[in-house]
Amino acid sequence: MKNNETLFPLRGVVQHYAWGGYEYIPELIRQKNPDQEPFAELWMGVHDRGPAVLTDGGEEILLKDWLAAHPDALGASRAKFGDQLPFLFKVLDVREMLSIQSHPTKEQAVQGFEAENKAGIPLSAPHRNFKDDNHKPEVMVALTDFWLLHGFKPEAEILATLESEPAFAALQPILKDSGIYGLYKTIMEWPQQQINEVLQPLQSRLSRAHLTDKEYPDFWAKRAFEQYGGEGSDYDRGIFSIYLFNLVHISPGAGIFQGAGIPHAYLEGVNVELMANSDNVFRGGLTVKHVDVPMLLSHLKFDAVTPEVLEGEALNSFEAAYKTPAADFQLNRVYFPERGKYKPEPPKTAEIVLVTEGTVVSGNDGQVFAQGEAFFIPAGTSYELDVEEHTTLFKALVPVSS
Ligand SMILES: [Zn+2]
Repeated sequence: MKNNETLFPLRGVVQHYAWGGYEYIPELIRQKNPDQEPFAELWMGVHDRGPAVLTDGGEEILLKDWLAAHPDALGASRAKFGDQLPFLFKVLDVREMLSIQSHPTKEQAVQGFEAENKAGIPLSAPHRNFKDDNHKPEVMVALTDFWLLHGFKPEAEILATLESEPAFAALQPILKDSGIYGLYKTIMEWPQQQINEVLQPLQSRLSRAHLTDKEYPDFWAKRAFEQYGGEGSDYDRGIFSIYLFNLVHISPGAGIFQGAGIPHAYLEGVNVELMANSDNVFRGGLTVKHVDVPMLLSHLKFDAVTPEVLEGEALNSFEAAYKTPAADFQLNRVYFPERGKYKPEPPKTAEIVLVTEGTVVSGNDGQVFAQGEAFFIPAGTSYELDVEEHTTLFKALVPVSS
């Protein structure tokens, strides 16, 4: 492969979903937000709902169109993932908690997509589960203190939680008799009337409580009642899950991976996220969208999960990799406390780099990339960067086993 020397400026696309924060992303990309619009996500990739724009020789062109014309730039990922980027790179600012969700394996996605096509369910139908035939593993690294739900707690911990809350008394024998699966199935299949009867005393207690400690599920359940309907309304049964799943706090610089079947929900915080190209989501509550209970029950992992916080594996004194089982992507973090030079090996696959703090200057041609700016590096590019002090870069790439 020929070596080239150009870094291409890349402009991401902001998604203004209602749950997004008002400050972090506007400050990151140095854009004013006078009308207090929610800035939920910044997308850097080739997805049709938010395609990034690359600048080549002063001309702007969609990254996906540029790649179609320069597929060599993808390098070693072409053999497995074809002529497009296999990942979507994002910044997320979660102000209001997101829905409980999980994602299928690749095999489940291939089968499910085909089955729904055969059944004639339109892609845009609200009850359509499989929007494409791909899996959707996700890795994220926190930029601020980040809170999420991740996987079922061990049965003994769930039992202790149920015993500590009077409103959950009726659930204890169900757990003892039929385990985590049986408990979850019961809750997800209960008529709404029964959900309301069980959750009403909890809502009533929490509404009077002054809760500030985010380490406890009560804090998030109170927020969920406020967000999804309080006193007198139909309660969202996803609120139970706040007590059944691990409540995980990720410190800035640490990360976590969501594999197939692991239920998860982002509660609050800002992160950098890298995922496979897919929209396949099963929702399990804390949502106004469609919840397909049988589909959820047949795809969730009910085994207890011990959350594995990723601290990043050092590659050299500046760079750490958040390694996961996903072949589609790898997220690296580069941090320079002092001024210095960053001169990696020419990458084997295409890379997208986002500057989250500080500034870098290309040693090749003097281009400056400051906080909030991103650039695209074709595979095989030999480059070096002059890095200012206190500079952090996040780099998205495809792992290549050599
Ligand atoms: Zn997810």
